[in-house]
Parts: sequence; C-alpha cells; structure tokens
Amino acid sequence: MLILYYHRVGNFAPGEPRKLSVEPEVFEAQMRLLKKFRCNFISADDAVDIAFGRRKMPRRVALITFDDGYADTLKYAFPLLKENGIPSVMFIATEHVGKTDWNHKLHGIMDWAEIKRLHLSGVTIGAHTKTHRVLTELAPADMRAEVEESKKIIEDRIDAPVKYFAYPKGVYNEEAVKAVQNAGYTAAFGTKKGRKLNKEHLFEIRRIPVSANDKTRRFLIKITKNLNWV
Ligand SMILES: [Zn+2]
Repeated sequence: MLILYYHRVGNFAPGEPRKLSVEPEVFEAQMRLLKKFRCNFISADDAVDIAFGRRKMPRRVALITFDDGYADTLKYAFPLLKENGIPSVMFIATEHVGKTDWNHKLHGIMDWAEIKRLHLSGVTIGAHTKTHRVLTELAPADMRAEVEESKKIIEDRIDAPVKYFAYPKGVYNEEAVKAVQNAGYTAAFGTKKGRKLNKEHLFEIRRIPVSANDKTRRFLIKITKNLNWV
C-alpha cells in the first residue's frame, strides 16, 4: 500500500525551501501518473478495513494524506482531488487554525469554516495535536492534552468523530502511542518510510514523503517501489 504524505501544495516564494511544498502542476502530474497506472485510491477507513482483513486488498492501492492544513493545499489540491474522486486525509494542529504557518512563517493555515467545508466535501479530517509540539518532548499530562483535546476540538467544529492522528514531525515513542490509543483514535500516522500496513501497527503507520523534487521520473521510481504491483 502506498501512503503518500504532502504538506503544502502551492507555488514558491523566491528562495523558499522546497522541502515541504509541491507546486500545483507537479501535484497534478503526480495524480495523473497514479491514475495512468490504474492506481486504486482509497480512504483512511478503507485502509483500516484492509488491515483488519474486512476488505480485500485491491491491486495498486494509494492513500493520499496532507499534514498541517495549508490554505494553499485547499486551493490547489482539493479541486483536483474532488474532480477525480480521490479520497484524502488532512491533519490539523488546532491552535494554528486560521493563522500563518509555523514552518516558513509565510503561508496561511485554513480557518475553521474551510476545514468544515473540506469535511462536508468528504475529506477525512484528522488531528495533529494542538500546538504541533513533538510529543516525546512533553510531560505526560501535556502529551495527553495535545492528543485528547485536539480530537475533541475538531470534533466539536466539524460535528463528526475524528478517528485519525498524525504525530508532529513523525516522532513518537511507546507513551505517545499509548496516549493516542487511550484517546480513542482508530489509527495514527508517522513519517517513517514504509509500505506495509497491518492491524498490529495501526498506530505507527508508515508513509512516503513527497516533495517538490519528485518530478515525474523520481516520483515514478518512488511509486513503483512502493505500490503493490502484483
Ligand atoms: Zn506537521
């Protein structure tokens, strides 16, 4: 299973680091390429069903995820995903909603009305803590608050259960995994690279990062290595 993770889909300011962004035309080309290879786009719920054996694993499966809630991602990626019926997950750090991003201090983060609109259009909204602090650096009570309260805050805003969590910077330890399990999430995503998804590792789901440097050839190598081709 190919689980990709993006941050911002948008154009660059001059000299801006390319690591966390993908230009809209590159993103479009990547989705086109996945479609060309007859990739089956699935939702997070589908991925969990497959992990539990409740659904048969179709060939060439991909799940698209986005971290941090960039307004540019809403503007450039979601119309394309919607048009093509591609499901996705967006992970939100609640205290940054409606503010400027903490990575580059350049770009806007979606506001609650936009997040609600995204949810209503069928995108899965997941939690990414409140402040985006690295969980393993926090005292146990703070760790629990980040995990539990972000879930409740988003649930109140979108009026629906929040089942998925992404660890800030992909960093977790045993305590963080326990905190996420105890808060009632169904699964949690990290940033370690990998493709196997099974029910024993639902709180340490591995993903493949995509950056602006993943132009057609590099992206193709990435996906052919990770898609289930047989
Ligand atoms: Zn993040």
